[in-house]
Amino acid sequence: MSTPQPETVKCLIVGSGPAGYTAAIYTARANLRPVVYEGLTPGGQLTITTDIENFPGYPAGVSGPVMMEELRQQAVRFGTEVRSGMVTRLDLGQRPFAVEIDHGKQQLRAENLILATGATAKYLGLPSEARFRGMGVSACATCDGFFYRGKDVAVVGGGDTACEEATYLASICRRVYLIVRKNYLRASKAMQHRVFSTQNIEVIFEHNTREVLGDEGGVTGALLVGPADVERRIEIDGFFLAIGHHPNTELVQGQIDLDEQGYIITNHTRTNVPGVYAAGDVQDPHYRQAITAAGSGCMAALELERAAMMEDA
Ligand code: NDP
Repeated sequence: MSTPQPETVKCLIVGSGPAGYTAAIYTARANLRPVVYEGLTPGGQLTITTDIENFPGYPAGVSGPVMMEELRQQAVRFGTEVRSGMVTRLDLGQRPFAVEIDHGKQQLRAENLILATGATAKYLGLPSEARFRGMGVSACATCDGFFYRGKDVAVVGGGDTACEEATYLASICRRVYLIVRKNYLRASKAMQHRVFSTQNIEVIFEHNTREVLGDEGGVTGALLVGPADVERRIEIDGFFLAIGHHPNTELVQGQIDLDEQGYIITNHTRTNVPGVYAAGDVQDPHYRQAITAAGSGCMAALELERAAMMEDA
């Protein structure tokens, strides 16, 4: 008796954030019959933010979950098949690529692949931080900073992101504490200069966060600890993490070119493996916005479509 052949998919999209769904809309309209695997966080990082006010076309803003549901519906409308489940293994050694779903529950093959697995913001790992996530604790000042207009906030981190977010928040908030664990900033000199020349930023060097303080209304402060274990309490309404992101590239480690931080290296969304494209935060350490992710999802779809046309010709 012959073993049944696994299903072969023309275009497999891994990840269901703005990059994945935009790639799906475009590839579906190009008749490539895309299949999207939603992954662990259907809708991606935007489903854990509050309102999105900087995505063009939503003058009154839109909640992250609503926007992602609308993107999903738009992708489905053009024939995308959205499946729940995780891609747990990829073998890029030969084409079509071998794909394992949910740790072996299903196998399939993909002629083309768009990786849109995103990145995950790093958190400190404090129980109090987890408790107030979405209630004053955020890892995206560009997304959530506006809600703290005129208030006092803290940013944790000493890199370019932390400095950028601190200066952005300083333009909206009354006071910004920048909490840095070392006695220097790792950020570029230009970013450091901006921080030090901004009046309402106070840099607190050599301090770590012991606890995020709050009540049922959300964050009210933070308990910091400095040299010689001396504690300092600050009163804040918002606590922003900017201690780096972790690109979700475990699936392709050792099979595809990554940069030194683990992001997929792309050239107009093409990776070094023919037939494999990457879009969104998994290949973008710099912008990390919904709109740029969506833009790169569109680019990946167009690149894939053109290459598929050449291969079929
Ligand atoms: P980085 O990895 O550069 O910096 C992370 C910062 O967080 C460091 O200061 C680090 O401290 C601190 N940190 C890490 N873990 C903890 C912890 N547990 N507790 C307290 N502090 C912690 O990340 P970024 O997101 O800032 O930058 C990533 C890349 O993107 C960089 O290459 C950066 O240059 C680039 N970038 C460029 C921008 C631009 O050019 N406009 C804007 C934003 C980012 P420590 O120094 O002690 O390790």
